[in-house]
Amino acid sequence: MHFDLSEELVAVRDLAREFAEKEIAPTAVKDDREHIFRKDLVAKMGEVGFYGCVFPEEYGGTQLGFVALALISEEIARVHSAIRVYINMQAGPALTLLKAGSEEQKRKWIPPLICGERIGCFAITEPDAGSDVAAMRATAVRNGDGYVLNGTKSWISNATVADVGVVFAYTDRSQKHHGMSAFFVELNRPGVSHRDLDKMGTHASPTGELTFENFHIPRENLIGREGEGFKLCMWHLNHTRLGCAAGALGVARAAKEAAISYANEREQFGQKIGQFQMIQDLIAQMIVNEEAARLLVYRAAALADQHRPNNLETSIAKYSAAETAAFNADAALKILGAYGYSTEFPVERYLRDAKSYQIVEGSSNIQKLIIAQDALGYKKANR
Ligand SMILES: Cc1cc2nc3c(=O)[nH]c(=O)nc-3n(C[C@H](O)[C@H](O)[C@H](O)COP(=O)(O)OP(=O)(O)OC[C@H]3O[C@@H](n4cnc5c(N)ncnc54)[C@H](O)[C@@H]3O)c2cc1C
Repeated sequence: MHFDLSEELVAVRDLAREFAEKEIAPTAVKDDREHIFRKDLVAKMGEVGFYGCVFPEEYGGTQLGFVALALISEEIARVHSAIRVYINMQAGPALTLLKAGSEEQKRKWIPPLICGERIGCFAITEPDAGSDVAAMRATAVRNGDGYVLNGTKSWISNATVADVGVVFAYTDRSQKHHGMSAFFVELNRPGVSHRDLDKMGTHASPTGELTFENFHIPRENLIGREGEGFKLCMWHLNHTRLGCAAGALGVARAAKEAAISYANEREQFGQKIGQFQMIQDLIAQMIVNEEAARLLVYRAAALADQHRPNNLETSIAKYSAAETAAFNADAALKILGAYGYSTEFPVERYLRDAKSYQIVEGSSNIQKLIIAQDALGYKKANR
């Protein structure tokens, strides 16, 4: 066992770091404050191949793997967490197609998503169905040459800007979760409306509601078979959850760096505040939590690259990284005092953004549920 990244992975990490510093950092504050969706960055990140690293070359990818995707996600989120969301919105739906789509669907839709040409999204959540995915009400009823989709999806990243996406809905509600199906939809067609939902952070990534009213989905846009949607949704979440965990790591690291830098500058009672043991205690905890989370994220990503089951390891990594992001951002804010609370410093943004990681792609409670139920033998995570 060794803990070193290959030369190739170091190069990927350095490229992402440089990209984040050069392309994202200069406008991060403005993008956050003014809630700017950076469509140009979606395209630029596609051009440099960030989304394509988990896709085969035949669909325009580089197949560098999930560890590469984790490194990229961490570097982008370290500079601006909201921009990291773009990675999951492009790679997430494309991965679902890669897993279960027909050859025609893959060739038609994966390349424009991973090169950033078409804006993507995935719609699972509904007003009354969050953690309990199977409680969704959206239905897709067979009709002639396709399906008629009705229902409202809420808290959907990119809802107001997406061109295309993957939507989950019931094709046969009587079959409970075995009656759910996945569809690839083009959102510039009649029968869909959207509205923005305001939120405390992650402002450069729009979140909103999508309402489908008698929205026609061509039959050839069904992904996989009818009834496979729930399984596919869980598979999808396991992969986007990994990118999310890596993003949380980036926020945790940014907060730690800000705290250390400030503790080395700020003087009170005639000495640097870093000299106080209570500040050192926070810094030590931030470092230990972050390093542990990083190893857990790398392990889950490496398992994915080896095509081995990693649901349990991904939940452990996501839980650890999300809690670490929130802890580190909170600790950094304490260390910066009033300057942490100030909007002139980025730490308040780190805290606002960090909180999202405890909710999205399965809340921290849901990760704990998966981990504990596996340990207790109630439900194996890696089936
Ligand atoms: C910024 C943002 C972006 C998002 N983007 C997307 C997206 O692109 N696509 C999409 O489909 N969704 C998206 N979501 C929705 C997200 O996936 C849900 O918010 C998440 O699954 C939690 O659902 P909920 O908010 O309805 O909380 P609920 O499920 O109502 O949970 C509320 C609380 O109860 C706890 N809880 C629920 N069930 C249990 C249980 N069995 N045991 C213990 N505790 C439990 C939860 O942990 C939480 O603390 C996004 C959300 C946010 C905030």
